[in-house]
Amino acid sequence: MFEFFNEDQKMLRSVIRELVDKEVAPYAAEWDEKDHCPKELFKVFGEQGLLGLFVSTEYGGAGLGLTERAIMLEEVARHSAGLSIALMTHDLATACIYNFGTEEMKKEWLPKLCSGELIGGLSVTEPTGGSDLGNQATTIEKNDAGYLLNGRKVFITNAHIADLNVWTGTSGVNEKGRKLLSAILIPPGTPGLSAGRKENKLGLRGSVTGDTIAKDVQCGPDSILGKMGGGAGIALHTIGHFGRSGMSAIAVGILRGTVEEAVKFGKERIIYGKPLVKVPVIQLMIAENQIDYEAASAMLYNATAIYDRGEDAIPRIAAVKYFSTEAAVRAARRTMDLMGGYGVMNEYPVGRFLRDALANIPSGGTSQIMKVIVAGNAIK
Ligand SMILES: Cc1cc2nc3c(=O)[nH]c(=O)nc-3n(C[C@H](O)[C@H](O)[C@H](O)COP(=O)(O)OP(=O)(O)OC[C@H]3O[C@@H](n4cnc5c(N)ncnc54)[C@H](O)[C@@H]3O)c2cc1C
Repeated sequence: MFEFFNEDQKMLRSVIRELVDKEVAPYAAEWDEKDHCPKELFKVFGEQGLLGLFVSTEYGGAGLGLTERAIMLEEVARHSAGLSIALMTHDLATACIYNFGTEEMKKEWLPKLCSGELIGGLSVTEPTGGSDLGNQATTIEKNDAGYLLNGRKVFITNAHIADLNVWTGTSGVNEKGRKLLSAILIPPGTPGLSAGRKENKLGLRGSVTGDTIAKDVQCGPDSILGKMGGGAGIALHTIGHFGRSGMSAIAVGILRGTVEEAVKFGKERIIYGKPLVKVPVIQLMIAENQIDYEAASAMLYNATAIYDRGEDAIPRIAAVKYFSTEAAVRAARRTMDLMGGYGVMNEYPVGRFLRDALANIPSGGTSQIMKVIVAGNAIK
């Protein structure tokens, strides 16, 4: 645990750890095997005040920050990276409303999202490519009743369980002919919005991922988040801070798992008449995992602290997203190697760690895109 966590953060971590040990750890392997998202846990996490950690208390949140949210996601991901990305993405809808919604939107929706009464989702990625954010075929057209939404999104977390959705779509073009995106809030039960294809993923299987489809979805006149044409900024801010710090926290949780499982296995496995951890080469592998875990954690909590004191942290978070997700793949592979044949047996969680770590890499932006952001900032 890091020395720079304050007493309240340490206390929060132990409360979450207790909840995760009871509600998550015993079931994580089964959720993975059955590709099941335990959506009933949203209310359990909501009751404990863990869904709106960064939302101020007047809207039903805990009034804390991105750091506390990362602590929560790391603890959940230590046992179920799948559930962690489902909770993480729920927060993206919450963050869009909290940071860019009107007072009426905040009062109406945030308490329900913070309590887990409603589940949220954010639909940005289209078949034309998640990296090509500006090239969205989805349309948001102004009409007499408000705004009409049409389009299809792909790879959307919580697609089949979200009650409240935030979408981005093209709402016009600027003077240079480039598409202008807007972000729109779609309340629960709005006709025309449906979930389509459900993906069968390699990892993160405790979450649902799939298409969301909007066919003549009529939204009210007050449903635009921020200003018309400001959708790209909203998506970049939300994914850049909340999405990628969340994916990094998940990677840090997996990294901790790779160390703990390697040590546990290494102490129990007897080879040459002594525990495997006594073999020097094995110790090097444990050391490499521990160093990756410590480096990723330090980068993550440094970046979230920068955001929590009110500064833009997008390049820092892109760096930790790149480092932590790639490191989690390396570390899971090392733990597998260290376990010999047992490493590929599904009775151990390490195979799931590797699959979850791999699935973590494109979510919220690929490693190449993270490096483009980091390089762009360094050059500037
Ligand atoms: C498990 C999971 C959950 C997800 N959840 C959501 C969600 O809830 N909401 C949502 O909106 N999206 C979600 N996504 C989508 C995710 O954000 C995209 O997959 C990601 O942005 C990459 O987009 P793409 O898959 O279309 O790949 P592409 O953008 O098609 O990229 C293909 C390749 O081209 C490379 N590339 C593209 N552009 C460049 C460039 N400029 N320079 C260098 N290389 C480049 C990429 O790095 C990649 O290697 C999720 C994805 C996954 C896997």
